[in-house]
Amino acid sequence: MLASYALPVEASRGRRYPEPPHPYRDDFQRDRDRIIHARAFRRLENKTQVFTRRLSDHFRTRLTHTIEVAQISRTIAAALHLNESLVETLALAHDIGHPPFGHSGERALDVAMRAHGLYFDHNLHALRIVESFEQRYASHPGLNLTFEVREGIIKHSHDYSATEHPELAEYLLDQRPPLEAQLIDHTDEIAYNTADLDDGFEAGLLKLDGIRRGVSLFDRYLSQVEKEFTAASAKLKFNEALKRMLNHLATDLIDNTARRIAESGVQTVEDVRHHPERLAAFSPATDAARAEAKEFLSRNLYHSDSLRPQKADGEKIVGDLFAYWLEHPETLPADYQERMGEQGAPRIICDYLAGMTDNYILDQHRRILKR
Ligand code: MG
Repeated sequence: MLASYALPVEASRGRRYPEPPHPYRDDFQRDRDRIIHARAFRRLENKTQVFTRRLSDHFRTRLTHTIEVAQISRTIAAALHLNESLVETLALAHDIGHPPFGHSGERALDVAMRAHGLYFDHNLHALRIVESFEQRYASHPGLNLTFEVREGIIKHSHDYSATEHPELAEYLLDQRPPLEAQLIDHTDEIAYNTADLDDGFEAGLLKLDGIRRGVSLFDRYLSQVEKEFTAASAKLKFNEALKRMLNHLATDLIDNTARRIAESGVQTVEDVRHHPERLAAFSPATDAARAEAKEFLSRNLYHSDSLRPQKADGEKIVGDLFAYWLEHPETLPADYQERMGEQGAPRIICDYLAGMTDNYILDQHRRILKR
């Protein structure tokens, strides 16, 4: 049973190119399946989440991170009686526009584009992927996703200004997205804040004492676990504490969002859209704990000396190849060269690089620049 403020599939604004209904999957379920079968989705397997050259086969890739976000999102959507199929689709699509080498690749592409008065934004790139780069249907370009899925791809993490983005006018930029899309930014953070503590600890880059001092939510649960399981190994205690921390974040997001919905008086998805602020949110205390964990990871993992060489490598490879293809656009694949007249070389090169997996861009760099 959906809540009155959920988005029922019957209320969808539909697809760009109308299609007959499927006999046993609704439109949001079909969109989920279209994302899973997309080439860009399969490439997530070989795109960095945090660690590039894997120190171990156990670390998250962007694909396993995406699956974890989908799992957490479904659980929270079900507890709030939101549309689980829409939430799952948006979770599976949320990182589809990410370039190789994680945030270093993203930054390097953006720097290269800014030299031409342009920029790189992974949400806008994700929309280009599902609208035009994925070619699976004889009858139309792209995946022909429903309006709400395309809207969620754009609006799940932040609002875009209508004056800066006239090309996005159809996505109701003056309105909040439905709650199903609002959840994703928070479930993404729950997933990576806990997973990156896990992978960082496993990699030996984060020490238990440091995590305890820097992440009070983790410390609270580890103290609890130490009293309950005196004989358990240190790693099992770590896992148990981390699981409780994840559960705390998810439960708080459910409870606090439900409270905000009740207090706001919103009844329908149109009320959600016209409410002055997003309603999906952690409580102030848990939001502070979330921010503390994120800040700890930023300082001690993402910007640590240990990860600096792999980040510098990634940025250099993206920058080198961007510069090479600007000088030698005739060596780009034919279909990219065809679009160059219309969209300009920088955008086309950016699209090409952003689509690459870590392996493929490393191969290209070795082959072309002999390094
Ligand atoms: Mg993510």
